[in-house]
Amino acid sequence: MLTTAAVCHAPHQSFKFEDIELAEPQGTEVLVRITASGICHTDISVQQGKIPFSLPGVVGHEGAGIVEAVGRGVTSVRPGDKVLLISPSCGGCGPCTTGHPALCEKPALRWSGVRNDGSPVATLQGQALGMRFLGQSSFSTHALVEERTVLAAPEDIPAETLAPFGCGVVTGAGAVLNVLQPRSNQSVVVLGAGAVGLSAVIAAALTPATKVIAVDMVPERLALARELGATDTINGAETGDLTAAIKEAAGGGADHIVETTANIKVLEAALAALSRGGSMGLVGAPGGGEAATLPVVPFISGAKNLRGVVMGDGTPAFLQALMELYRQGRFPVDKLIRTYPFEQIEQAMADASSGKVIKPVLTFNP
Ligand SMILES: [Zn+2]
Ligand SMILES: [Zn+2]
Repeated sequence: MLTTAAVCHAPHQSFKFEDIELAEPQGTEVLVRITASGICHTDISVQQGKIPFSLPGVVGHEGAGIVEAVGRGVTSVRPGDKVLLISPSCGGCGPCTTGHPALCEKPALRWSGVRNDGSPVATLQGQALGMRFLGQSSFSTHALVEERTVLAAPEDIPAETLAPFGCGVVTGAGAVLNVLQPRSNQSVVVLGAGAVGLSAVIAAALTPATKVIAVDMVPERLALARELGATDTINGAETGDLTAAIKEAAGGGADHIVETTANIKVLEAALAALSRGGSMGLVGAPGGGEAATLPVVPFISGAKNLRGVVMGDGTPAFLQALMELYRQGRFPVDKLIRTYPFEQIEQAMADASSGKVIKPVLTFNP
């Protein structure tokens, strides 16, 4: 079928709207009419040439929509169902079979650009396109995805609110609720009050941690962090010594830190503010293979923990819980979102890059 996609032809080029030929669903594939797609920094990184992907291609990995058709092997959804697109997984590897599908050992599902059998998902004038970006390629009026990338969603969550649950929301919420798991009276420091960081703040406010400290350089974002449950804020632009500021706010040292800024200086300063036995979860990915310095002896003597977090180690069940918490008014991610018509993708990307908007979400006319 023909569908309209925002095609990225080469790094540093604007998106071009093209009518691409999308394959029909086979086997366990699902054809989804996209109704909303969030924009995440990983999409921007491809356009900026910082993350390699087969181009020309279609990115976008925070899709939500309506199932239009399914392959014969699909059992979990049917045409007409409202769905959230989630991180792809194989279902058969070690992490997948032990409850960690976000850590799936088949990176080809995220990056290969083609179907599992190697055939193209879509073509443009006969040329195969790089598709199924992070399992999706949702900057398109339709996406052809695997069944495991699709999760049935409640009818009453608006598509534009639903879309970011698949990456930004689950990444921030899962870092706190699945990975760090703060205990009673502990402190949680969130570095960066973007979509991932603010999702972490909302999550931390649902735990028995009694100090939730947001760090950013934009006063409006810090004000929003307070509204969403932060008990303290630190404006990094007004702080000469971030380590000392975190220690002071946390009352000695931080029990948990969620790093979303991808800024090595921020990471290193915060690392030095960890309490004995404290943990830092790394979420923000710096480009260009940057390395951080780890002071080994204080790290050992302080029994500190450092771990990478992928997609919040989220499962479909965890996403269902987050969607229900949203419906109950306890996970108000709608406060992070600004919508743009699909046609205004360039403006939305620019506003995401500059930080003017926390979570831009594209909306699609039927
Ligand atoms: Zn993302
Ligand atoms: Zn797997």
